[in-house]
Amino acid sequence: MEFEIVERVECPVCSSRDRRKLFTIYDDRYGQPDLYTVLECQRCKACYLREAIVPDQISGLYEKYYGYSSNGPSSTMLRRSSFPWHSLSFVRRLEIGKQWEAWYGYWTRNRALDWQIVNGERVLDVGCGYGHTAKHVVARGAHWTGLEVDIEACQAIRGRGLECIHGLIETADLPNEAYDVLIASQVIEHSSEPRTFMKNCARVLRPGGRLFLNTPNSSSRYRLAYGQAWIHWFVPYHQVLFSPQSLECLGQSCGFLVRAYRTETPTHWANLQRGYSRPLRGEAGAWANKNTPGMLQPSVSSLKLRLGDLREGSGDALVAELVRL
Ligand SMILES: [Zn+2]
Repeated sequence: MEFEIVERVECPVCSSRDRRKLFTIYDDRYGQPDLYTVLECQRCKACYLREAIVPDQISGLYEKYYGYSSNGPSSTMLRRSSFPWHSLSFVRRLEIGKQWEAWYGYWTRNRALDWQIVNGERVLDVGCGYGHTAKHVVARGAHWTGLEVDIEACQAIRGRGLECIHGLIETADLPNEAYDVLIASQVIEHSSEPRTFMKNCARVLRPGGRLFLNTPNSSSRYRLAYGQAWIHWFVPYHQVLFSPQSLECLGQSCGFLVRAYRTETPTHWANLQRGYSRPLRGEAGAWANKNTPGMLQPSVSSLKLRLGDLREGSGDALVAELVRL
């Protein structure tokens, strides 16, 4: 192994040792050549890697590989799934071919999930990337702060006059109960210790504060349909993948209650999935972008996805609101 690892002997979510081996795979996006074993917890249905890279080597993994593939989907692109499309104007939705996604969100949403952020609240975006949530939070009259481990992204945000703290939620020196709302979009699956991640989220939130979380859904129908070619295995960057059940279990053990959740399949995720082809081990993946600029094609494919998502819990993304007890 290129990086030092420790073998997980139990589920990082519920500690059960009852698990099933799914398969062994390699990095199909950035070319890290090692093999990783994907396990499924038989108790909470979380999926996780047997091989956990030791914490002080993870930054080395990301510096060497992550985002350095010229044709890989950027982390910003993957993060878009959390975007509250229904908050956009109708014209803007049409422009970006997202109308069905927006309407699905409108009809199926639990309103609690709509980033109900109000004037004056203190919001921390955990793993904020380049800070695309900031303008939506600021537009609601709330105060936005980013937390990001990528120093370049941090500096770019600061250059826009916004506050961005450099670091990880697991280790950053943040005050207790300092925030009303946390956003964590496409982040927790990267954490090798999700309980440490969640306990620190609970620590920095005030009691009654909300965590808006978005992560791939390990019970997605796409996982079943595509098997090893499912794009969200994304080893070794994704360490743990959650089902609604395992998220509930994680929340309970870390001081949270899952107030609401839904699952949905972002259109661009489905497009990436269709464009997937497995590279040779050690090579970066080629990602065909099947998005067409026209209006009709994205609209038809998005409508099909929304109909599929009506099957309870089968969407590719798990969107949840958790309340800090
Ligand atoms: Zn488990």
